[in-house]
Amino acid sequence: MARPVVAIVGRPNVGKSTIFNRIIGDRLAIVEDKPGITRDRIYGIGEWNGKSFSIIDTGGIELDDQEPILKSIRMQAELAIEEADVIVFMCDAKDGVTGSDEEVANLLYRSGKPIVLSVNKVDNLGRMDNIYEFYNLGFGEPIAVSGSHGTGVGDLLDEIVNKLPDLEEEEYDEDIIRVALIGRPNVGKSSLVNAILGEERVIVSDVAGTTRDAIDTPFERDGQRYVLIDTAGMRKRGKVYETTEKYSVMRAMKAIERADVVLVLINGEEGIIEQDKHIAGYAYEAGKASVFVVNKWDVVVKDDKTMQNFEQKIRDHFLFMTYAPVVFLSAKTKQRVHKLLPVVQHVADHHTKRVQTHLLNDVVSDAIAINPPPTDKGRRLRINYVTQVAVKPPTIVVFVNDPDLMHFSYERYLENKIRAAFDFEGTPIRLFTRRKS
Ligand code: GDP
Ligand code: GDP
Repeated sequence: MARPVVAIVGRPNVGKSTIFNRIIGDRLAIVEDKPGITRDRIYGIGEWNGKSFSIIDTGGIELDDQEPILKSIRMQAELAIEEADVIVFMCDAKDGVTGSDEEVANLLYRSGKPIVLSVNKVDNLGRMDNIYEFYNLGFGEPIAVSGSHGTGVGDLLDEIVNKLPDLEEEEYDEDIIRVALIGRPNVGKSSLVNAILGEERVIVSDVAGTTRDAIDTPFERDGQRYVLIDTAGMRKRGKVYETTEKYSVMRAMKAIERADVVLVLINGEEGIIEQDKHIAGYAYEAGKASVFVVNKWDVVVKDDKTMQNFEQKIRDHFLFMTYAPVVFLSAKTKQRVHKLLPVVQHVADHHTKRVQTHLLNDVVSDAIAINPPPTDKGRRLRINYVTQVAVKPPTIVVFVNDPDLMHFSYERYLENKIRAAFDFEGTPIRLFTRRKS
């Protein structure tokens, strides 16, 4: 089920990114271990009391031009109002209520969206007195937090989770592959959608999806049913809405959440930019299958090494996603577009693949025999057995004598051995370590 979206808004320097990092905390650490994902992330996945949500720090969204600050904050607030399910309005106890706070409050108030008002930099009890004036903003009791010390963050999370809506279940059957196309403006998303739908042997269904505000495009090819997530929005709203990076970021997040397979589009003409990494990182973290699609291949001047070199560049930039296949094509000339859907089907199969426990244990036993787990302060990690507990993505639990003895490098070694034995191309796999002696 898609995760609801939480957005943090507020003036610069009130501590939005500090609180954001605290909220995605542990998960950040896990992902940051993988080289290639940058630290200046503005969106991630938060979890509290068993509820999962995606969260975005709107302060980090790059605006297209040098807008005055107040205008920027207002745009960020408008974006949050349009796209988020819950908005965290962050203020600063040191500064008190400012004119900009009041202005943002007005916008948020009129939106009717669930708002959580939070006042940061309440580093000591003395500052508790400063929070009372924030009642005047009209959002009830402000939640006092300190990004520096981490105090109050639990209360803030309680309040966020309380206000999360129950998103309705997707209406699509399990055997339909849900595909999202992700990439910065002008990379060719709409063109590729049209190229796919224009292909022979594709039967476009006229049943429009109606999930929330999204308009999806279902179709069938060679007996496999697919749905392109949110593509009508992409084509119709087109330039006005999509061209600005700031809007595409949140739409991309939501589309990824609803997808099984994420097509990460890269402009073959211009190469890879930082933004491509952020969005791919989110697809990885959300546990979705992925395919890199290098578009505009028609305009690239090629020799016999060009494709290989480009693929190597992708591998170097996306170290956390070595599992994703790369397809080179041209949405414009339709060159190699027909190769895409079979790859999508292939990675979707792996995303839902289950490996029998005895086969998995055979592979892990062999791996241990070749390269025994390291010892830590004289104690050796003992792996008792492994079993796959979930799909989408394949999730494997490793039962051990003491989870603290499991090191990241050994976990990666096991993952590589599992990947080598069973074909999981295109999908992330999750390994969890649990105690069982
Ligand atoms: P943003 O612009 O709203 O994202 O704010 P940042 O998270 O970048 O924080 C702005 C500044 O406030 C930084 O220098 C932080 O170290 C500082 N800061 C963040 N949280 C706290 C806090 O709880 N107490 C104090 N005293 N400073 C904080
Ligand atoms: P979107 O913003 O990602 O949906 O991108 P569009 O599909 O609107 O494409 C942006 C521009 O790139 C348009 O002018 C397209 O004609 C052009 N374009 C898209 N795909 C290709 C391609 O494969 N080759 C070339 N040469 N141009 C392309």
